[in-house]
Amino acid sequence: MFKFGCSTVIELEDAMAFANHYRLDLATPARRRETLHRVARASAIVHFKHVEPVDDFSFLVRSQSQLGIQYDVYFYKGVCNCPDSCPWCKHILACLWWWDQKEIFGLTASQRMLEKYHANGRLA
Ligand SMILES: [Zn+2]
Repeated sequence: MFKFGCSTVIELEDAMAFANHYRLDLATPARRRETLHRVARASAIVHFKHVEPVDDFSFLVRSQSQLGIQYDVYFYKGVCNCPDSCPWCKHILACLWWWDQKEIFGLTASQRMLEKYHANGRLA
């Protein structure tokens, strides 16, 4: 399993593994570069705990670059209200990972478990 959100920088190999896992667009060198860039940004969003669950299917994701800006991600619709026109913006990717943690590792979606995850940088 790739390491995602564990450090400020994600390894290229892990970013590729993440992109392949979610079948993200790697069709051309340009799109591949763009996708891997998004994956890296999404990983950092998770690392800095900028994903905050509102309920089971929606999240607030704080902007990394602009203080005080946050985006609404409606996971069940796959939409985010950020300016990125890509259907897989970094906020959605970050939420996707947040969501999948409990599927992959059998965690509940509780904030406490998430805190534990982040505190250790890996699963307890
Ligand atoms: Zn977004």
